[in-house]
Amino acid sequence: MTTTSTPPSATEPTGAGDERRTFASINPATGDVVGVHPVHDEDDVRAAVARARASAGWWADLGFAGRREVLTQWRGVLTRRLAQLGDVVHQETGKPHGDAQLECTLTIDHLAWAGSHAEKVLGRKRVSPGLLLANQAASVEYLPLGVVGVIGPWNYPVFTPMGSIGYALAAGNTVVFKPSELTPGVAHWLADSLREVVPDHDLLQVVTGFGDTGAALCRAGVDKVAFTGSTATGKRVMAACAETLTPVIVEAGGKDALLVDEDADLDAAADAAAWGAFANAGQTCAGVERIYVHERVQDRFVELLAERARTVHAGVDVDAKIGPMTMPGQLEIVRRHVDDALSRGGRAVVGGAEAVGDRFVQPMVLVDVPEDSAAVTEETFGPTVTVRKVRDMDEAVELTNAGKYGLGSAIFTAKSGEDLARRLRTGMTSINSVISFAGVPSLPFGGVGDSGFGRIHGPDGLREFTYAKSVTRTRFKAPINLTTFERTPEQETTVATLLLALHGRASQLPKLPRRPLETIRGRRRN
Ligand code: NDP
Repeated sequence: MTTTSTPPSATEPTGAGDERRTFASINPATGDVVGVHPVHDEDDVRAAVARARASAGWWADLGFAGRREVLTQWRGVLTRRLAQLGDVVHQETGKPHGDAQLECTLTIDHLAWAGSHAEKVLGRKRVSPGLLLANQAASVEYLPLGVVGVIGPWNYPVFTPMGSIGYALAAGNTVVFKPSELTPGVAHWLADSLREVVPDHDLLQVVTGFGDTGAALCRAGVDKVAFTGSTATGKRVMAACAETLTPVIVEAGGKDALLVDEDADLDAAADAAAWGAFANAGQTCAGVERIYVHERVQDRFVELLAERARTVHAGVDVDAKIGPMTMPGQLEIVRRHVDDALSRGGRAVVGGAEAVGDRFVQPMVLVDVPEDSAAVTEETFGPTVTVRKVRDMDEAVELTNAGKYGLGSAIFTAKSGEDLARRLRTGMTSINSVISFAGVPSLPFGGVGDSGFGRIHGPDGLREFTYAKSVTRTRFKAPINLTTFERTPEQETTVATLLLALHGRASQLPKLPRRPLETIRGRRRN
């Protein structure tokens, strides 16, 4: 059993040791206790937010260069202790060490990008004031919001929350992080490592507990909440945030489709499909959950995918490429989806109802599954995938877009694929690969529809944690001052003439006769 430490300034629960006030994080592969953590209540959360607020000014005032330096040091610590962090992830999620390391690797790369690009994206820029206000110097910059609350999931307990935490910090905010109750040890490890770099300020604090602790964070006066989890909880988070008009980002999972065209490299498509569907035991928000294949290549594709699926198994042995289901309750969801698919005419080419065990789910390839079954419409979050034959890519696009989610998608084709990508109603698309968009730090990550809104990663991900500050400065006295009661009708006529020259040619419709100046003057005198 590992011990976890709360940040030195974190509030310790009054009844430590009392069962009502602590909970254990469990290794889902073995059932062993990994660590014991406090259940933070509303007062604890408010206290953490107050500490974060007290440090926010110092952090914002450090400026881009100072913050970049701190984040660079932190990234160095994460890199040098990669194996240690990966091990905590492995213990709390059950995923193989290699997958844990991959998630941490991508996180470090994102942190580097956020730290080094914050100034370019958010720093003050002069903008054109336009002709009408040519006497003004205009500028815009993106200022930190203050304190950001991050509510994270368990499936990628480093990569996913750090997509908000790293970018929010780089933008000049301090952060209070409520991890999933399944992965609190990972969260503490991250916060403790940053505290080693900056011991005297509360840049990143962790509050642990269940849904109530997350709900308390939404109501604790933070300036924004970044939530990742289910659509249903996302709605509850939004409702809580609405009470105080706290803005929110919702990253709520998906039902990502992979499209395989008749001219695709089928080996590459099958290899990517297997990884996209089964890696991390399918517990990936942007994982491949359904596949639409051109009818001319469907049979061969299914053969190739099945071959690969048979080489992957879930377990704890050294050859196991995937681990257990991290959240025990997820097994029931996977079982329901598979049973529904099979009872409605679906066929398991690999796996079947017996592939859903007590802790592990073995890879499953399902064909002939009706499009309105839960296995096609709802997020399964397990190592299962449905494959359906389509007439052409138009039908594949139509079926993809019929879903309520719109997170990511993938296309395999010999053509450029870009036109097809634009027709898919998803926030992100990979052409001839799967999920690559998540690893590119300069690309925004997020979806549409039931997948939520807002973006992490990339320039948009930095701006999410800021507000735009616009400033104008008068450079010289304008020949025509628009913002004064001294404005004369003659000047208004000049402005109208100027406007006609500037924008009048945009329309071919005849202009209506202008009222003579005298009538306007007459009206004013009355
Ligand atoms: P939830 O949406 O229930 O939880 C996500 C996070 O929100 C957790 O930290 C959770 O805390 C917290 N939370 C729960 N209730 C509230 C609340 N009322 N207010 C504020 N925060 C709250 O996801 P689950 O972990 O239960 O997984 C359920 C489903 O969500 C899965 O089946 C999967 O489909 C989807 N999911 C999607 C993910 C994605 O990456 N998009 C990630 C994880 C899950 P706690 O864990 O302590 O309850």
